[in-house]
Amino acid sequence: MKTRSTLCYPDGEKSCFACCPPIRPPEYEHIRFKNFIHRELVRNTIEFKNSCPSKRPITGYSCWAMGYIDDRFRVPGCLLHPYLNQGKDLRYLVDYQDKCRRESCREYHIFALLREDEKKFYIRMTDGMDSFTYSSRRLNPLFRLLNWGETVLRAIARNGNSSPISFEELFELYPFLTTSHNPRACSYIVSEVISNRGVSIMMIRGFKEELDYFMSQIIEDLRGYELNKSNGEYYYKLPFQKDLLEFIRFGLGIKKLSKEDAHRVKTLLQRKINSYF
Ligand code: SF4
Ligand code: SF4
Repeated sequence: MKTRSTLCYPDGEKSCFACCPPIRPPEYEHIRFKNFIHRELVRNTIEFKNSCPSKRPITGYSCWAMGYIDDRFRVPGCLLHPYLNQGKDLRYLVDYQDKCRRESCREYHIFALLREDEKKFYIRMTDGMDSFTYSSRRLNPLFRLLNWGETVLRAIARNGNSSPISFEELFELYPFLTTSHNPRACSYIVSEVISNRGVSIMMIRGFKEELDYFMSQIIEDLRGYELNKSNGEYYYKLPFQKDLLEFIRFGLGIKKLSKEDAHRVKTLLQRKINSYF
């Protein structure tokens, strides 16, 4: 049976273990303590193989059940995961079973929406990274890239030929990906532009500068509008498509908005996109 690639276990050569254990602060990165954690994972793996695991809570930022799931000590993973224990979930042994089971990042879910060949297109850019680098949001550009969302990522993957390219080559081909704006704020706009003008616009020199200018202008224009932010709904509950809601949250910095005003934002944004691009 063919296994599906996930962002956590992409290719059998490495894994992401950034969210283990699920009790560390968001900015924490394992790579800062690479040597120490590597030794700890080796020790956990050997101890786990040589003894019968018993109930022990997690302490600090390390978990005794995190070890290496391959013989070469390269791929970190949860030794209590049902996948490694004949379908039995043993994570109750650390007292965090539900939290461990639920833990998944936003990027994981976006990656899961892609087709296998599209996933492969992006994962090949991480060839040569070890698990510590791959797990680092600071050092692995894939995490930021995934914030462009399914539509933009799919358009790029389908536009490429099948030969592998590096992150550097990708950013050279599609300079807009290096914008200083948050990709979550821009993805609605880029998706609309692709739908109006076709995917080739993403490769045009100058599209990055146009996008940057458009973003600054639209944010300024909409900030001048009197929007009802106090009595509205939380942005993620509004009945609009997700990337538009992310423009409202991360482009305009608005957490709550009335449905009517969200609709006004959408209409104005649409009009500006159609006239500018
Ligand atoms: S029990 Fe497994 S999933 Fe939970 S923190 Fe430990 S290694 Fe991670
Ligand atoms: S941070 Fe995301 S990709 Fe990494 S292990 Fe957790 S869910 Fe998987």
